Amino acid sequence: MTTQNRLIILGLLSTTIVMICLTCFAVNKIKKDLDIGYKNFGQIISKTLAIESVEITKDIPELSKYDTLRSHSLSILGSNDDIAYIEFKDSNSRTIYSSEEDYSKRADKAKIVVSSPMILKHGTNSTTVGSVLVGLSGTIINDITDTTTTSLIMVFALTWGLIVLVMLAHTILTTKELKLLQDGVKKISSGTFGIKVESQGMSKEVKQLFDAFNDMSSRLHQYEEQNIGQLTLEKNKLEAILACIANGVVVCDNYDNVILVNDHAQKLLDVTPNEILKTKIQQYCDTNGEMCFKERIEQFKDTPLDVMEQRPLAFNIEVNKRVIKSIMSPMFTVNREYVGYIIVLIDVTKEIEMDNLRSHFISNVSHELRTPVTVLRSYIDTLYNYGNDFDFNTQKEFIGVMNQEIIRLNRMVNDILDFSRYESQNVKLEKTRQDIMPVIEDVVDEMKVLAAEHNLTFSVMKEPDLPDIPFNKDSIRRVVANIVSNAIKYSPDGKRIKIRAERARVGDYVEVSVEDQGQGIAEEYQQKIFDRFFRVENDTHTIKGTGLGLHLVKISVEKHHQGQVFVHSKLGEGSTFGFRLPINPPENNEENADEMPVSTNKIEQIAAQNNGNDGWEISFEKY
Ligand code: ADP
Repeated sequence: MTTQNRLIILGLLSTTIVMICLTCFAVNKIKKDLDIGYKNFGQIISKTLAIESVEITKDIPELSKYDTLRSHSLSILGSNDDIAYIEFKDSNSRTIYSSEEDYSKRADKAKIVVSSPMILKHGTNSTTVGSVLVGLSGTIINDITDTTTTSLIMVFALTWGLIVLVMLAHTILTTKELKLLQDGVKKISSGTFGIKVESQGMSKEVKQLFDAFNDMSSRLHQYEEQNIGQLTLEKNKLEAILACIANGVVVCDNYDNVILVNDHAQKLLDVTPNEILKTKIQQYCDTNGEMCFKERIEQFKDTPLDVMEQRPLAFNIEVNKRVIKSIMSPMFTVNREYVGYIIVLIDVTKEIEMDNLRSHFISNVSHELRTPVTVLRSYIDTLYNYGNDFDFNTQKEFIGVMNQEIIRLNRMVNDILDFSRYESQNVKLEKTRQDIMPVIEDVVDEMKVLAAEHNLTFSVMKEPDLPDIPFNKDSIRRVVANIVSNAIKYSPDGKRIKIRAERARVGDYVEVSVEDQGQGIAEEYQQKIFDRFFRVENDTHTIKGTGLGLHLVKISVEKHHQGQVFVHSKLGEGSTFGFRLPINPPENNEENADEMPVSTNKIEQIAAQNNGNDGWEISFEKY
């Protein structure tokens, strides 16, 4: 039962009680008035009876009075039900006649007794000869009271019945309307905006309520549509921004569920959206099967949010042999409510490789510089202090060693200088069209002594009628020197180094290649050896070097001469390093040649074609 109904019933009950009290009061009042009237009526009857009795008995003998009064009484009692009994008494209050004798039962019903004196008049004098007592049954009063009470009860019953009916009808109607409203509110709360509630024969107030509800619902619908449009726009913008970001972005809610992950993050973490979305980020396993985020997230949660906001948590994870820097920072709403965190993923594999290479480079360079300087210092010291003790040949030998060390030092310093010079965007080398053979012969001459130390032999082969090509002599000389000195450095003693200059089989190029029978290079390193500071790990500590030589070769050939470098090598069998320079390079094209790939495949084909020199006219010169 609703509160409203309870209140109505309570009101009705109290009204009824008040009305019952009022009615009882009214009925009582009526009864009292009736009693008074009834008594007056009895008084009149007794008076009339007294007068009549005096009249009919005054002239009759004493003995006949009884009969006369009796017959008169009986005639009155017979015609009037309301008179219960009549009694006549003489002046000494002795009963002359009482109707009880004849109607004893009727006499019991007497409720009101009235009496009047019987007065006999003699001229102006009067004498009391007796009295008349009349007993009234009060039937009329009872009838009237009963009728009044019954009528009142009926009126009440009728009124109550009507009220209950009206209340029931009202409740049913109101409940139906309320139900309609309730359904509407439920739908709105579940997000179905724009619904309308309607009903027939509503009261004015309910209609106003329905109208207000419908108005609210349609406004909500409009607002929702606007909002959805706005939200979709914002979402699209956000997704577009996230997609454009070069770094991976993973967004997690307050409960560590991944709610957003951009394409780049999917690639870095090697997952599909289905695999990661709505899962806990702690459960993500890297390629080693480790839950790489778990501990870090615990650390993140143990740190106050404002500290994390100031200094986001950064750590590295490893996925598919790539090092990924992860930066975690908390996310807040505009009201500073914490809603989760965002992880930015950056692929730092290259940077870390570069860092390692750089530190190797620094240790290599310092080692490389220290060795010749120490050798020079000790030789100079010996010559300065004990020079006179040595014969001419020993002194010459000392100076020869010093000269070699100075040449090495010079080459290395030049490499470092060239590296910074050639790396610069603005450097443009002056080129002259010329024959490449004098450059190769120069280098071979210079390296002869070094090669002889290791019992290595050179063979230089040149294709006849090789065209002149435009190049910078110093730069290409250093390229050839680098490749040849590597061939010497990485060949075991007593082997042969073949240098060939020929027209390239593919394209309009002159090709120079240096083939050795050295240790060769594993395939996995062949693409990397042209990178700056790169050295094959095994050789780093045994054979001296900086990892700059081949990088300079690549920059010099590709960037400054629009040529190509190549390598063809087999571990344990030897390597062929070389380059191709265009016979007619396009004008002003130096800047565009920055990141040219090392064309190993192509050179493999060419090397295969050139094997055995079938059909070639070559001049052969041995050193
Ligand atoms: P480095 O100063 O170390 O020689 P380079 O850039 O000239 O630097 O060469 C890079 C790496 O390539 C070397 O460390 C070496 O491992 C490898 N390499 C170069 N030339 C040869 C070769 N002819 N035979 C075998 N390995 C070579």
